[in-house]
This record gives sequence, C-alpha cells and structure tokens, in this order.
Amino acid sequence: MRWRHRSTCTRPRFHPNPFKQARILEFPTYANFTQAFAGTIPYSEGIGLVTRLPDTGAADKIDMVTYVTAHEIAHQWWGHQVIGAEQQGPTLLSETFAQYSALLVMERLYGREQVRKFLKYELDRYLRARGGKLIEELPLARVEDQPYVYYQKGSLAMYWLKEVVGEAVVNRALQRLIAQYAFKSAPYPNSSDFLRLLREEAGPAHDALITDLFERISLVAAKASAASTHQRPDGQWDLTLEVEARKLIADGKGVETEVPLDEAFDIGLFSAEPGAKDFKPASVLLFERRTVRSGKQQFQLVLKEKPLWAGVDPYNKRIDRNSDDNLRKVDLK
Ligand SMILES: [Zn+2]
Repeated sequence: MRWRHRSTCTRPRFHPNPFKQARILEFPTYANFTQAFAGTIPYSEGIGLVTRLPDTGAADKIDMVTYVTAHEIAHQWWGHQVIGAEQQGPTLLSETFAQYSALLVMERLYGREQVRKFLKYELDRYLRARGGKLIEELPLARVEDQPYVYYQKGSLAMYWLKEVVGEAVVNRALQRLIAQYAFKSAPYPNSSDFLRLLREEAGPAHDALITDLFERISLVAAKASAASTHQRPDGQWDLTLEVEARKLIADGKGVETEVPLDEAFDIGLFSAEPGAKDFKPASVLLFERRTVRSGKQQFQLVLKEKPLWAGVDPYNKRIDRNSDDNLRKVDLK
C-alpha cells in the first residue's frame, strides 16, 4: 500500500492512542471486510488495497482506502476504549464516532472544500437505504442493526453538529466520554451518556439541533431554484440566489410532517462546480452562513469576480432529501 506522509499531526483530538503499533494485515478477497482489533487491522484487498488511489486533489474521486483505514484506526478509541452498552444506540458510540473521526482525517488531508464528496456519498446512500427498508427507521440515538443509520446518517449528523457547535465542543464531549468510560467494565455507556455530555458542552442554545440530529428523524429539502448575475458599472457582480426550503420530521415508517424551518445554512458562490474535476479552493468566491426559512427566499450578494455556480448547502452537509438540487449554474442577465 502506498502511504502518504504529511506533517499534519497535532495534539490528540480525543485521547492519546494507548497502543504502540498499528498493524494492517492484507488478506486476499475471499472475504470483503476490514475489522479493527487492538493495534491490528485485517484488511481485505478487495475493499481497497488493490484499488487505484486517486489523485489526492481530484475533486470527483473518493479516496476510499484512506477513508476506510482512518475509520478502522478510529476504532482504537471507539470500540476498543469505549464500548457501548447492549441497549439501543450502541453503534453510535463505535461506528458513528469512527465515521466522524475518519471525516476529520479526510478534512485535514484534502481540505474543507473536498469533504463534500464524502458527505454526498454518505447522504445518497442514506437516502437510498431508508427508502427501501421494511424495518422501521430509528433515530440515531436508538439505532439498532441499521448500518445506513449508524454509518451514513451518523457521518452527516456528526459533521453538521461540529459545523454548528464547533469541533472543540464536540471533541470535548468525546474526550469526557473516554475519560469516564475507557477500558472500564459495566456499567457501559449508552447514547444517553454521550448526549448528556454533549448537551453540557454545547449549552442550551443547541438543544433543538441535538434533538433533531440524534433523537428524531429530521430532514430538510433545500433547493437553489434560481440564480442570476449581472455586472455593475463599477465592475463588481450582483448576484441573486433564490432558495426554496422545507423541514420535515419523519416517523419510523417514513411518513413526513412539515415543521417550520429557521436555521443556518451554508451559501456558496463559485467559479467552478463543486465536485467537478477543475474545482479547487480558489474556485470558492464566497462562502458564508445565512438563515434559511421555510418557503421561497432571495439572497442578494455582491462579488468581485463573476460567479458561475451558486448553491445552498453546496457541500451537502445537511440531511437533505435531494443532494442534487443544491447547486445551480448562474444565469447571466
Ligand atoms: Zn467500523
């Protein structure tokens, strides 16, 4: 396996790794899985080691090898130090946290602009899976044997949580979970123990967000419905972005109820399409958080450079019912 070295190490985010080594054992594709044991990770060549590593900068490729490896390494904390109780929600404390840890690694390796491809991949798989399941969907905090909830939805929930409350807040809650429960026998922690620590760290201002992400099945439907620009006499560009949005709460069978939406969303303007081959950090002309409410609304923005693409939640950080209508090409007026 080719291994990239970059000097990106800083202080441990959660707690130092207690093991002296991390061994990766490749085995032939008679089985297709990776698994984490303490300090040792058996890794099927079929999952990644024989797949071609994409260019690190390619915006349209997912580096699954590093993503999966980071996930398995993260189990040295989540699953080996902290073990969830045999109640509903134990995989939030192992698989979801391993996904979150892997996303932090991807963000560090590839940059914030390129995390979109991992988030969109998870969102599309979550939406596809929840549409085809016969067994009732459960909120993340009560997840049972439902990989699309603890992997895919878990990735999206934790990433958006950290985007809103801040990475330091989320990581402090995780550090406290490790401090209280690492390498301890019963009573093991459950998802309520994590949510209690998270609420203490995040404060009451984020209570509704935590409820939406972990204790309900909450979705948004945000769409960039129109975008146009024209050049002003002073050479700058006026841009109007029209956004249509709704918020939905689903029950376990998928029946949705609309509730009022009044939340922060990313708004982005670009000189290249996010996710396309030529998209790079310099393609981001404007990226800021704005309040989006239920219904139709317009955002007026002024730019120095001509915007070609505009979007609401353009990096697919939200659990949105359609990941493909967040971005649109800007019309020249
Ligand atoms: Zn795992």
